[in-house]
Amino acid sequence: MTKPILLSTPHMGDRELKFVQEAFDTNWIAPVGPHIDAFEQEFCKIVGASHAAAVTSGTAALHLALRLIGVESGDEVFCSTLTFIATASPITYLGGKPVFVDSDRTTWNINPSLLQEVLDQRAKLGKLPKAVVIVHLYGQSADIDPILAACNTYEIPLIEDAAESLGATYKNRSPGTFGKIGIYSFNGNKIITTSGGGMLVSEDESLIQKARFLATQARDRAPHYQHSEIGYNYRLSNVLAGIGRGQLQVLEQRVQARRRNFEVYQQALGNLPGIEFMPEANFGRATRWLTCLTIEPDAFGADREKVRLALAEEQIEARPVWKPLHLQPVFAECECIGGAIAEDLFKRGLCLPSGSNLTTEDLHRVIDAVTAIHRKQ
Ligand SMILES: *Cc1c(COP(=O)(O)O)cnc(C)c1O
Repeated sequence: MTKPILLSTPHMGDRELKFVQEAFDTNWIAPVGPHIDAFEQEFCKIVGASHAAAVTSGTAALHLALRLIGVESGDEVFCSTLTFIATASPITYLGGKPVFVDSDRTTWNINPSLLQEVLDQRAKLGKLPKAVVIVHLYGQSADIDPILAACNTYEIPLIEDAAESLGATYKNRSPGTFGKIGIYSFNGNKIITTSGGGMLVSEDESLIQKARFLATQARDRAPHYQHSEIGYNYRLSNVLAGIGRGQLQVLEQRVQARRRNFEVYQQALGNLPGIEFMPEANFGRATRWLTCLTIEPDAFGADREKVRLALAEEQIEARPVWKPLHLQPVFAECECIGGAIAEDLFKRGLCLPSGSNLTTEDLHRVIDAVTAIHRKQ
């Protein structure tokens, strides 16, 4: 049996189990405990944030972020269209309405001039959105400065979904730390994982305190159980925070390994006709969380889907680039500003196996399979 090569799998270091053991030894098997506090502090150090709250998922972190900003029923929230659904679904949890915005070709992330343009138009109509949510896709930061400038013109809070871009840089700082609130994910497929988990960061300590309050059922200060607001059960487990502490220690190694995957793929496949790799913007370092490329079918001899299916035959898991949210049936009623670039990247884009634990042999199996498809044409 051929060993399957998966897209992105967990990759533990040496310390995670020791931290988990410590949680067991001290009986902190709860959504409270010393690993949570330490994980938040260590995470802040790594990304350069002032305050952080550890929660059960990146999606939960986004839900809290939007709630903290005050998004309510009927509010419009601008959102990148080329992303995973979890960037936008929390908008709808609060009854808000996403308005999607197209990408640019150099970053694959939200197009800053398009954002500025549409905010200017909306300002004239007196119809500004309640918030802007941007994603930093596949390990690459969006072009944050002009995005922030556009938001600041109209004092619209910026939320950064950095779920896929922990370890990346934008002008030597971490994406996720520029807006009012940033969020990260530690799902099993991310660059580091706690099996499931997320983090909310902000420079505003009161926002993070409020996040912790809302994440633990919004219990008022009283000896009895009293609630003046509806909260959630979103706090991360102390056991999982232990895994997170171990993973943080190997984050830089994981970034290096994923960047190496990309380089090996690019060296071997970059010259094939019709193949183009996701560019790395010159403002920072992409982690290459996933190695993504686009395939021009006429030049290459096969389209994205044909390549994906041929790889699947070889037990190699590749995935199409995210289907833009404005094309999702569930968002059929939502407005989208532009969209042609995101649609094109979806149509031609493929993500190759990218785990930090892939061997050189694994990478060459993928390379040989892609090359074989081209040769057959
Ligand atoms: C994974 C992911 C999320 C959600 O994180 P979870 O921890 O899985 O809830 C949000 N946004 C993007 C872009 C993601 O890739």
